Amino acid sequence: MFLHDAVIIGGGPAGLTAGIYLCRAGFDAVLVDRSPVLGGQMNLTEKIENYPGYLSISGPELAKKMEVQAKKLGLKIVTAEVTKVKLTQRNEKVIETNMGEVKGLTVIVASGSEPKKLGVKGEKEFLGRGVSYCATCDGPFFKNKEVAVVGGGDAAVTEALFLTKIAKKVLLIHRRNELKAQKVLREKALQNKKIQFIWNTAVKEIIGNGEVRGIVVKNLKNNVEKIIGVDALFIYIGRVPNTGFIDVKKDEKGFILTDKYLRTSEPGIFAAGDCRSASAGQISSAVGDGALAAFSVQSCLEGIDKEMPYVSCKAMADCFL
Ligand code: NAP
Repeated sequence: MFLHDAVIIGGGPAGLTAGIYLCRAGFDAVLVDRSPVLGGQMNLTEKIENYPGYLSISGPELAKKMEVQAKKLGLKIVTAEVTKVKLTQRNEKVIETNMGEVKGLTVIVASGSEPKKLGVKGEKEFLGRGVSYCATCDGPFFKNKEVAVVGGGDAAVTEALFLTKIAKKVLLIHRRNELKAQKVLREKALQNKKIQFIWNTAVKEIIGNGEVRGIVVKNLKNNVEKIIGVDALFIYIGRVPNTGFIDVKKDEKGFILTDKYLRTSEPGIFAAGDCRSASAGQISSAVGDGALAAFSVQSCLEGIDKEMPYVSCKAMADCFL
């Protein structure tokens, strides 16, 4: 089986940037992503206004530009789901996928994260019929309707603001009495007349008849439950990392721990972007991670003899010393 210089897991901004840097520097890199449409979460973002160089650009457009650039520079793409990264005592890494194995001297894990689920009755049942984790994708189905967003972070507030352009009314339901979101977003939302805040409240159940018709909510201060009629519930309560396939040191939520070179606890394996602990969750920070991970991979590869990849992992671990 062909032994690549680097296998990149995940085709979001971190993975694509790592591919761009590695291929441009003359290394042989392959990127594995389960989706044939590269770009990851960028594809779910309608409008990006904080990516340098663009006053405003759509997520799918930015994703396409990154993909075209990476492919032009020689990045190979494999569409497959990674199931396991086998850690051996040798320098080569075996990446098991549902389409077979891919082998590399180094690995960059850039597999991102996915929406956290509420775990309430009706969430699975009404998925795609009023329950959504993507306002950009599903918001337009609810023109002039009443919708609810649950969460209090940047994502919930950004998407609630987006939904005000489509829906008649947006309820923002949060379990605390203040938002966690950054100041600029908080202020925009608090000033928006179309957003109604429902504080100290948890969503207990999603109800409907084929489609969402309402939610059962509970006031956490007085434990009073009531039904609120809405046509959709957009869930933005954080993210969980896609890191189950790899056994490296992680934080309590499963995000991969790295050092300042983005090295993981396993020599030759690096992590970049949203799957990494303490990631800023931004496209620009993921891009920065991708570039740094590529530099670290280069340092690593320069420290080992490609003709003799079976030398001890220690050489790889020591390549930064
Ligand atoms: P987040 O910052 O972790 O916020 C999650 C929110 O959901 C918190 O307010 C949390 O409440 C609430 N929550 C968590 N579990 C809940 C549950 N079971 N039931 C009800 N509420 C629950 O996550 P995020 O908003 O998805 O953002 C993730 C990262 O992406 C952040 O780093 C963020 O800065 C970034 N981001 C940035 C932008 C932007 O800059 N425009 C947009 C989107 C995301 P508590 O406060 O009570 O814990």
